Amino acid sequence: MMRQYELIERVTAYDPDADEALLNKAYVYAMKAHGHQTRASGAPYFSHPLEVAEILTTFKLDVATIAAALLHDVVEDTDATQKDIEELFGPEIASLVDGLTKINQLDLVTKEAKQAENLRKLLLAVSKDVRVLMVKLADRLHNMRTIGHVKEEKRKRISQETLDIYAPLAGRMGMQTIREELEDIAFRALNPEAYEMIVSRLEDIKSEVGDIIVEIEVVLQQKLEEAGLKARIFGREKRPFSIWSKMERKQLSLSQLSDIFGFRVIVEKPLDCYLALGVAHQNWRSIPGRFKDYISNPKQNDYQSIHTTVIGPHRKRVELQIRTDVMDCVAERGVAAHGFYKDIKDKKDAEAGVAVPAATSNAYRWLRHLVDIISSADNPREFMEHTKLELFHDQVFAFTPNGDLIALPKGANAIDFAYAVHTDVGNGAVGCIVNGKHEPLMAELHNGDEVEIITSKAQTPPPSWEGSTVTGKAKAAIRRATKQAIRTQYAGLGREILDHCVEKAGARYTQEDLETAVRRLGLKDVEDALASLGRGEITSVNILSVMDIEVDDKQTRPFAKEKAGSKNNAIEIRGVDKNLPLKIAPETGAVPGERIVGIFTPGEGIIVYPIFATKLMEFEDQPERWLDLAWGTDESDKTYPARIKVVIHNEVGALAKVTQTIGENGANIENLQMVTRERDFYDLDIVLEVVGIKHLTRVLTSLGKVKPVSHVERVQG
Ligand code: MN
Repeated sequence: MMRQYELIERVTAYDPDADEALLNKAYVYAMKAHGHQTRASGAPYFSHPLEVAEILTTFKLDVATIAAALLHDVVEDTDATQKDIEELFGPEIASLVDGLTKINQLDLVTKEAKQAENLRKLLLAVSKDVRVLMVKLADRLHNMRTIGHVKEEKRKRISQETLDIYAPLAGRMGMQTIREELEDIAFRALNPEAYEMIVSRLEDIKSEVGDIIVEIEVVLQQKLEEAGLKARIFGREKRPFSIWSKMERKQLSLSQLSDIFGFRVIVEKPLDCYLALGVAHQNWRSIPGRFKDYISNPKQNDYQSIHTTVIGPHRKRVELQIRTDVMDCVAERGVAAHGFYKDIKDKKDAEAGVAVPAATSNAYRWLRHLVDIISSADNPREFMEHTKLELFHDQVFAFTPNGDLIALPKGANAIDFAYAVHTDVGNGAVGCIVNGKHEPLMAELHNGDEVEIITSKAQTPPPSWEGSTVTGKAKAAIRRATKQAIRTQYAGLGREILDHCVEKAGARYTQEDLETAVRRLGLKDVEDALASLGRGEITSVNILSVMDIEVDDKQTRPFAKEKAGSKNNAIEIRGVDKNLPLKIAPETGAVPGERIVGIFTPGEGIIVYPIFATKLMEFEDQPERWLDLAWGTDESDKTYPARIKVVIHNEVGALAKVTQTIGENGANIENLQMVTRERDFYDLDIVLEVVGIKHLTRVLTSLGKVKPVSHVERVQG
């Protein structure tokens, strides 16, 4: 176990101004508080917080973080209280310890809903101060290093949680060394056979090829020197878990997996990275598709580097990661590197400075962004999906026309992009231009795409977008916007219905009357009441009766059958969109120019029928469900469905003639089914898309004249 003075020396080595008294106090307090407690290994419990603190000194973290590491388990596991910590160590350390205590009680490998709720709490706790997450990651790392002493069932559970949550979080925070070690230990615990297989195979390869790593290092160094470049080169094998996941992802066997050697080339200046790349590609053939420039396009966790794979000496595939000292520091330490990073810029001294993680880092911004989603996610399950997606997806980088970089998960489309730019841009998006060409909004984006979003103030996002997007931000915003849009639609419809009925009863009402009525009905507010009326959850009779307006049954019908379709009394509709509460009856279709009515259908909205539809007879005795509608639009470019039946002789080319005639008349076929009626005849059930009744009539007349057609009619439903 590390001694007290050793810990202090480690901290003062990178922070000469460190408050030694505070560290001593935390050390002694935690040691006494844990007293004779022991770990599963039999070691004194205090060895654990001490090791956690030690891990964090390698990241050169500030005194408050180191003290919080020493104290991180005392409130949870000893008699010490949060209040004691606050009084003895002040609010900053107390709040770090509090965050850690809260996380300690979370179990992230439970049922999905519970897991989501716990992950939500975890992210909330760490998002207040990212140092909480760093202590937690160091805590988990030490627990994993000692997991061998834990019983198998618990070992697997903790390992799964590590692989699912903590390793990706470490990666997202840019702390690669912690991520890799967590992954390898968890992998070994969960799948010992696979782990042993990979490790022994790596040994075999090493003995086959000799000391190839050193050999490649020497050759590479020599070539770079010839080009006048100063570089440090580190060769290493890939980690077992990274090999395993590559085998799984690409369905490869270990023998097919050839690029297990990776080299890091550290140069002085960013420009040198590109020179070194040139040297490598000039001497060895590069493998297409493996070159990635994360220097000009950093990853979301601030990672910068050039990646390439070449066929190196002995025809072995060799992966090269080329970067500067500063970039290497960020790659290893992530969020924790910002202290160094600043100082390197200021003093050109790579090893000076205490790290206080920067709130402005991309990695930290990502964490805040996740918290935004948490606050707007409707249920834990959704939240979990979003979070998991965001944790595990690879990324795509796209640009705004101004050259701003937008990093998105792989599979994202222009809608995700629009929402990433701004919620208003997403809500108003009607089209996009990708690399100078008009593209559908749903088209998947690729690395380097330049995306311009075309917006319109009149637009509300259709609900179907939710299923086409991959980012949590887009999904949450679409759900909010469509919910509101649909509610407004229903409320508008409710208002029309109410006005209509009141007018028929020869009465009047004021806004005040309505507010009183709404209160008496126990509804939330006027908009809520009107939306309920629009959805058909309450009827106009309900509202009118509490407003003391006398009505007979006939007057309460928003629809009077004898006057159907007359524009004076009807509520006008302008087209039917997916985001309106209106839906055209699938049994018949309905087209502009013909007389229509609406039927309230709870859960579906208002179904629009042509007045002749036989289905309407089912609703004869439910007058409250009828709504008088009229088309507010004449024939336009937009098409509407109309279902027709065509009976044809069974002869060669008959079907072709029917579809040809439909096409010649400018109509589309949305659906076509063929049913054999008799030996010589077919019934065709066709859903046409036409602009209105005149268009439909023209198609029907033309079809009637086609020779193999014996009969044609509109389906009555
Ligand atoms: Mn602990």
